[in-house]
Amino acid sequence: MAAISPIADSVAAQPRLTDSHGRVIHDLRVSITDRCNYKCVYCRTGEVGAQYPELGIDEYLRLIRLFVSLGVTKVRLTGGEPLLRRGLIDLVRELASLRTIHGEPLNLALTTNGHLLESLAVPLRDAGLHRVTVSMDAVDAPTFERITRIPGSFETVLRGVRAAREAGLTPVKINCVLLRGFNDDQVEGFAHFARREDVVVRFIEFMPLEEGRLWTPEIVVPLKEIVLRISRILPLIELAPNEPSETARRYGFSDGPGEIGIIAPVTQAFCGACSRVRLTSDGKVRTCLFSQVEHDLYGHMRAGESDEELSSYIHRIVQGKEARHHIGEPGFLKPSRSMVHIGG
Ligand code: SAM
Repeated sequence: MAAISPIADSVAAQPRLTDSHGRVIHDLRVSITDRCNYKCVYCRTGEVGAQYPELGIDEYLRLIRLFVSLGVTKVRLTGGEPLLRRGLIDLVRELASLRTIHGEPLNLALTTNGHLLESLAVPLRDAGLHRVTVSMDAVDAPTFERITRIPGSFETVLRGVRAAREAGLTPVKINCVLLRGFNDDQVEGFAHFARREDVVVRFIEFMPLEEGRLWTPEIVVPLKEIVLRISRILPLIELAPNEPSETARRYGFSDGPGEIGIIAPVTQAFCGACSRVRLTSDGKVRTCLFSQVEHDLYGHMRAGESDEELSSYIHRIVQGKEARHHIGEPGFLKPSRSMVHIGG
């Protein structure tokens, strides 16, 4: 396991990260591997293994710490599949000891396919993780396993979801990417699942970020259709966003527990309120999922730059954050990396 350099409980405050459109950046997504143990049909071509090198745990820590000193208050670990990464528990423990520029603990979350969650939920909670989001694209085993292409995965993930809830990694959020003709018959089943399991189910519109060439506008299941279909069977009520930069439109049920969220980057883009940047597993900064350029922060670090130099590089990168994405517009260009290699 990589040695971990000690980091301070709090970090010296620098000017906050703001882009040239006036948006304040306070949300960092960090991919800690682009390996994945699932081969979801809409994400992977089926090739396994890493395509990009991984940084050492201590190197992720140094870079995350810099972002925190610049005003990041929320860090989400992702991948690839983050639970595959050796040193994850140590990384979570170190991140949990960091303080934001406001002196508060970081808001620390993780996105996983849930396959290894049953045994890792308690160690992750004990290390200081607050919440998990688990990806599930169906609520019946045959559909689920047709998508993940891993036999037995449905029951394994369900046990992971329940273990996370019992460990208090709550609210447990379930991410479901809907694709017309693959799993769009799962909408109503997921609404019942949200209530039964007392979890937040979030439907995500499919974006052109797959390894293959599956995306068309017709395959996207739009927000409006999802809301309409659920409200035919259950009493949905719209809820206020938790924060202004929240990506999901939230709905509760007027007669019971559970919550539905809909993330609609395609039909109702939320770029104007975007507060995110991404760090890839090989240490590149991406200011948008659909960026055509990446910024080699790790390369600057390896060249021996000081924290001050790296901080001003991050400021310059963030200044150039794209105003918005251009999905579905003429001339739209898919980014060179797919979702699994960027970090979802
Ligand atoms: N392995 C982890 C997991 O399964 O959650 C983290 C990485 S995965 C790439 C993160 C999320 O991105 C998953 O919820 C996945 O369904 C979603 N995703 C992958 N490709 C997508 C696409 N083209 N459009 C929208 N969401 C996508």
